[in-house]
Amino acid sequence: MKVNTYNSFAALGLEFYTRLATTPLNNPRLVHADHAVGALLGLSPQALSTPEFLAVVSGSAPLPGGDTLATVYSGHQFGVWAGQLGDGRAHLLGEIVGPQGNWEVQLKGAGMTPYSRMGDGRAVLRSSVREYLASQAMVGLGIPTTRALSLVSADDPVMRETVETAAIVARVAPSFVRFGSFEHWASRKRPDLVRQLADYVIERFYPECLSVAAGVTESPEARYVRFLEAVVRRTALLMANWQVVGFCHGVMNTDNMSILGLTLDYGPYGFMDGFDARHICNHTDTNGRYAWHAQPAVAHWNLYQLANSLFSIVPDAEALRNALDAFEPTFLNAMQSYMSKKLGLKTWQAGDEVLIDDLWSVMQASHADFSMTFRQLAFAPGLTEATPGQLALDLGGTVGDGSGSLKPFIDLFVDREAAGAWLIRYRDRVALESTPWQQRVSDMLAVNPLYVLRNYLAQQVIEATQRGDFSELENMMDLLAAPFSARAGMERYAALPPHWASKIEVSCSS
Ligand code: AMP
Ligand code: MG
Repeated sequence: MKVNTYNSFAALGLEFYTRLATTPLNNPRLVHADHAVGALLGLSPQALSTPEFLAVVSGSAPLPGGDTLATVYSGHQFGVWAGQLGDGRAHLLGEIVGPQGNWEVQLKGAGMTPYSRMGDGRAVLRSSVREYLASQAMVGLGIPTTRALSLVSADDPVMRETVETAAIVARVAPSFVRFGSFEHWASRKRPDLVRQLADYVIERFYPECLSVAAGVTESPEARYVRFLEAVVRRTALLMANWQVVGFCHGVMNTDNMSILGLTLDYGPYGFMDGFDARHICNHTDTNGRYAWHAQPAVAHWNLYQLANSLFSIVPDAEALRNALDAFEPTFLNAMQSYMSKKLGLKTWQAGDEVLIDDLWSVMQASHADFSMTFRQLAFAPGLTEATPGQLALDLGGTVGDGSGSLKPFIDLFVDREAAGAWLIRYRDRVALESTPWQQRVSDMLAVNPLYVLRNYLAQQVIEATQRGDFSELENMMDLLAAPFSARAGMERYAALPPHWASKIEVSCSS
């Protein structure tokens, strides 16, 4: 396995991590390796099927040229300061210089570290499959995320609620630095190390924060304020991205918040089936702190914790507060733009906010399926030609130009009349734009996914993988890579969830 490496995190110094070796697994098998992620690292598909590759991604051999270490961070868990956490079951193998940029490679589940606390340093196959699939789902949806290079399964027993087996996901990202990495040094009263970490992250990932207009003199702290502004912006966009696909992270603790605005640390996440704004995907989150509707506000709260840490190097509290204040408008603007696209609207007009709010309400009242509501809405193109009377009488039939049936949309709602009434308003709104309906349909289908990583589908992949059948995982990886285009023979992956799906409980146990 030949790669170029440049281990920049290791160069930060020994305070930031502990050097250590991974603990190999028994009888590791490669379940899957992602060719697209391999290509980012400069690895050919052939390289991903060699014994050398398996040895590295199963924790049996170090990355050639790498520098294996576990990083330290702290964080707020469920709103409470938790003190030191750190990579309890993650090993950073090193940083690979890829054809288009550098990527850190991390193994999740490769054994204990000084930060394992009560944990065993392992990850079970069940949760590893979930992380693997979720990374792909996000890539397919165009949502910033850490990537997954490979999934390895092994024989080692791992005790959770029951005895399960161990697995390792090799994750890849430009950086795994978290909000909690900054909180760590601020809480330890080490502004020098907060500054060092900020300088590192800015130089590598936010170089735009370094540029000062010619002739302008500014305080040395100004760059850190711009850095916070940039992280606020990326985080607000990430939240809007999550909200419009019905994604719930489940454990939005500050140690799970990427400084790069990536979706990070897939645990008890979920893509919503029936819409409920208060949906809680993490069975352990009894108070719903991380419910779907709460995610943007929680992200904002988490950014406050980051700003608090930066306060140790930026004495100007007002400047930091101003940076934080940009969260809400940035988030709302992004929501407006993404929701317009989902509805196939090219402009933002008076009344659109109410129209969209009312759609959420109609969906909420019927617990209408999140993804299918938007997908099927695209297939009601004849709307522009129907009169309100026709529509009201013809909720089950085909209207207008005959190219689309309203029935699949209306069938998603218990309250069909309410859905029909909303459709009439939507039709009138669509009629205010001159987009040909064919164009609107294809625009909508390009942003509203057909194949969604529903919990029950993930569960089916997990069970097949546990039986040693990797074909379901491969199918799902293919579908999630291109979730917007319908494929023949794959109808069952686009079906509404079966009754048992609502009984699946996903907790922090992983
Ligand atoms: P999480 O909320 O899953 O992101 O994890 C919170 C903290 O617990 C992090 O420091 C993890 O590294 C650590 N952790 C979680 N599971 C384990 C495990 N099985 N062994 C060691 N540490 C763990
Ligand atoms: Mg975590």
